[in-house]
Amino acid sequence: MLDLVIVGAGPSALAAAIYASRGGMKVQVYEKQMFGGLIATSDWVENYPGFDGISGMELASKMRNQAEKTGAKINYGEVSNIREYDEFVEFSVDGKINKARFVLLAVGNSYRKLGLKHESNLIGRGIHFCATCDGGLYRDKDIVVVGGGDSAVQETIFLTKFAKKIHMLVRSEFRAQDVLLKRLEKFVESGQVIIHKKAQISEILIDESINIQKVVGVKISQNETEEELKISGIFEFIGLIPNTAFLKDGDIALNSNNEIIVDNKMKTNKKRIFACGDVIENAEKQVAVAVGSGVIASLEISKLYNLR
Ligand code: NDP
Repeated sequence: MLDLVIVGAGPSALAAAIYASRGGMKVQVYEKQMFGGLIATSDWVENYPGFDGISGMELASKMRNQAEKTGAKINYGEVSNIREYDEFVEFSVDGKINKARFVLLAVGNSYRKLGLKHESNLIGRGIHFCATCDGGLYRDKDIVVVGGGDSAVQETIFLTKFAKKIHMLVRSEFRAQDVLLKRLEKFVESGQVIIHKKAQISEILIDESINIQKVVGVKISQNETEEELKISGIFEFIGLIPNTAFLKDGDIALNSNNEIIVDNKMKTNKKRIFACGDVIENAEKQVAVAVGSGVIASLEISKLYNLR
């Protein structure tokens, strides 16, 4: 039987894996989509101690290499049907039943979507959630960024490397950190970034005359008026939703935002099931905090493991 199964492979998961493996546990990490979590899609991280500037992908890769060096096994696999028993936790990986002494849920968040008509058909070819991945498609083109939080501002600054003009649509007021807003200012002054406050997309305009649908513009509503913007792409940075849909029919306690409820040792309402990272209740959503929560969980699990 495995000692610890970690679900997810973002920074909190990898930090937990490093500590648990070094503590002598047999650790298996399962990731269903992409190693490194959302930070791996971030262009540049400069608030993680020890690195005053590193790409999100490089930071995630370093964490993964370190976890593997300590002996943790990291594989693709979708975990579901988690059920706790007295002496172990049972779960399925891609439909196959397995067991571990402890399970740590580090499943993170996904990008929230606007929910507009055409949106789901155009993801990856007109609608995007990752500037690092897709920004290069919009060299010398006009685009829209939606959102007013840290992600929207940080990613808009990155997109200025490519786009000719960026229309930022902020639903209410900015809520990004001052340090980021300050950096945005010079692009606003140069006219490359145009800020539309209290503005939202009411319709995505597409060219239907061609076989493959293409974004050609948006209708925006602002202060009870409507305007059309001719743009080629839309980047949405409108917040995050916890990846806990697979837990909804189980008995692990979630709050009303579908975040996992934990105590100060990262234990859920189940004695062998822990959670860490951005998916826990009221997480700060900073890499350093996520890493810290993974370490706390791992230390507590190791303690219980050694008591067995
Ligand atoms: P946030 O939840 O902080 O911001 C979401 C933004 O999207 C808000 O401006 C919100 O508007 C807007 N929004 C939400 N729904 C809609 C909608 N349907 N239509 C239009 N606009 C909408 O999300 P972020 O992804 O920016 O950040 C998530 C977390 O990650 C935060 O805690 C943030 O601090 C952290 N983060 C930190 C970074 C750093 O430290 N460098 C970098 C990136 C993220 P409204 O205000 O009106 O609700």
